[in-house]
Amino acid sequence: MSAPTQTPIRKSLQTEAQYLKGVGPRVAGILAKVGLHTVGDVLYHLPRRYEDRRNIPPIHEARPGDWVTIRGQVMGVQANSAKRGIVIVKVPVTDGRSTIVLTWFNQPWQKKKFETFRGEVMAYGQVKEGAWDLEMNSPECELIGEDDDPADFARIVAVYPLSEGVPQGLVRRAVDSALDHYLECVEDPVPEPVLRKYGLRPLKWSLSQIHQPIDEKARLEARKRLVFDEFFIVQLTLALSRAQTHHEIGLAFPIGEERDQLWKDIHKIFPFEMTPAQSRVVEEIWKDMEAPHPMNRLLQGDVGSGKTAVAACAMLAAVRAGYQTAIMAPTEILAEQHYASLSQLFEPIGIETVLLVGKHSAATKKKAYEHTESGKASIAIGTQALIQEGVKFKKLGLIVVDEQHRFGVVQRAALREKGMGNPDVLVMTATPIPRTLTMAVFGDLDLSVIDELPPGRKPVKTHWKQLSDRQSVYEGVRKLIAEGRQAYFVCPMVSESEKALALAAEELYARLTVQVFPDLRVGLLHGQMKAKDKEKVMEQFRAHDLDILVSTTVIEVGVDVPNASVMVIEDANRFGLSQLHQLRGRVGRASIQSFCILVSDAKTDEARARLETIASTNDGFKIAEEDLIQRGPGELIGTKQSGNLGIKIGDLVQDGKMMEVARQAAIDLVKLDQTLSRPEHSGLLARASRKRASGASIAVS
Ligand code: ADP
Ligand code: MG
Repeated sequence: MSAPTQTPIRKSLQTEAQYLKGVGPRVAGILAKVGLHTVGDVLYHLPRRYEDRRNIPPIHEARPGDWVTIRGQVMGVQANSAKRGIVIVKVPVTDGRSTIVLTWFNQPWQKKKFETFRGEVMAYGQVKEGAWDLEMNSPECELIGEDDDPADFARIVAVYPLSEGVPQGLVRRAVDSALDHYLECVEDPVPEPVLRKYGLRPLKWSLSQIHQPIDEKARLEARKRLVFDEFFIVQLTLALSRAQTHHEIGLAFPIGEERDQLWKDIHKIFPFEMTPAQSRVVEEIWKDMEAPHPMNRLLQGDVGSGKTAVAACAMLAAVRAGYQTAIMAPTEILAEQHYASLSQLFEPIGIETVLLVGKHSAATKKKAYEHTESGKASIAIGTQALIQEGVKFKKLGLIVVDEQHRFGVVQRAALREKGMGNPDVLVMTATPIPRTLTMAVFGDLDLSVIDELPPGRKPVKTHWKQLSDRQSVYEGVRKLIAEGRQAYFVCPMVSESEKALALAAEELYARLTVQVFPDLRVGLLHGQMKAKDKEKVMEQFRAHDLDILVSTTVIEVGVDVPNASVMVIEDANRFGLSQLHQLRGRVGRASIQSFCILVSDAKTDEARARLETIASTNDGFKIAEEDLIQRGPGELIGTKQSGNLGIKIGDLVQDGKMMEVARQAAIDLVKLDQTLSRPEHSGLLARASRKRASGASIAVS
């Protein structure tokens, strides 16, 4: 006797969807179109929204526009062929007092269905004003038989995200079947004590209620649990990675006794006093440098908060302890600028700094490389590529990564492979990322925040002007230049292409030099220029040999010319909010009053709202929150990374609190079980490993 072919012996969430009762190979083929291959896929295919069919008013109380359920007796059926052969089926239904007409367009089979049926129906849809009676177009409708429970229809019904050719009812039936027959296979990976501590519902219950909620409260609780799970796995991956770094053997800088001397040096070399926030953060960083594990720290601070000075203090401590340090900038312009300011700080106290940039002659490069290799130069400044490629260090102790929040675990491993040891890493970012997002993406880094600006800064005054007001904008700029200030003009963001941007900048440059400011000294800077020329222009602007710098967004990050006090941004509505904030951060870097002029004929309400936001606040975090709401995480942290987060159920804006809860829960659990090796954590470990393997949530790119 041969065994009958039938459903697999062991039911699991990996079972193919075709084995679901009521599905089969044909329907499974359709489900595959929306990416549902296994029973688990089906169970985790979450509703996009819900229809609440529980409201069953008497027909005479239903008002046009209401979404309601109607219950009544079918009185007949008519089918008319309207123009162009479209069949209209009308089914009048009465509840004894009033009548409503259910109407279907081009669904001739509805006629068949009602030809012989004169019983009771329930229909859900939107009520419309009809010619005589109320109407309901294309309702969801069910005939009620003797054994049917009307409550099965009049409930909260899930509506699933679909694609072309996949009927709602088909997905709903597959989900119902999965819930009926496979819910028992769901294993809850989250330990009971965690659930209890955070008041979370069991997973089985939550899956069932997310699809078939008994009421709104249950749906919210179910969602809460599923969002927790999603965030918890992200946070566990990060917490594991963080625990791992904390266990690696790293450098332990002997700062303890040097502390006072270091502060004395700092006092001597800087032309200003550190703000309390800067001092606090410097201490946080030193403390981490002293510890025997490698530092992996994110330094966050709004534009102009003085991150470079803080980095310099960290570098000083490393050098005093006998190590070399490297600082990597995202652009050569910025590397030059760092070189200018750091060499000025450090050379007078006998610390050699070298600049590693592509445009240097072979001989200059060779000398720089020799000095880093021999250890003669203590501080190397360059772009990320340059430092990672050729350079050898004698004793590299600290790497500072400026304005590039993507230096992660992988890059650190690469450095180690190149024999650069296991240096401390300090990553600086001025993109004021909302806290939720910071936690989601950089949860493996320890965080230091500079939350105040140096004293005496006047907030940049931001005005939004129409194109027709340009003349008055130019006059305003001219007046400031006459007072000895300098100005930036940022060209419109015509496209992503550097070439197109360069053209736009050249055009603006030509217009300003020929028509508007023929008597002033105007320079041009864009990404397509040779490194040498870029540097020359920046140098001239810094030295005040230029009054105006016309530029693309290459000046977006880092550039520091405190005498520049006005920035005009052309076609400002083309930029993202955070980008505008970054750009604006180029002015207001001293105690003079600075201005940012957004020139734009914002046509849509949305564009206007965006410009209003920028004009009304200088708080980078507020602006980033707004950006996150308006444009999603991709704009803030790079599309690739945000896509990698794999967050589908939770919402980074709305569920910020939950991210915090999940983070705490993950940290606590990893404290308890550092590698999640206990048997009761095996489910979590498996999920976290899968997430890690998919590259999610780790700052790698
Ligand atoms: P960012 O955080 O945007 O990188 P920078 O490090 O470029 O900021 O600093 C912005 C400006 O503020 C620089 O001109 C710097 O010299 C100055 N600055 C930094 N710290 C202080 C301070 N404590 N007091 C006065 N000026 C400061
Ligand atoms: Mg900076």
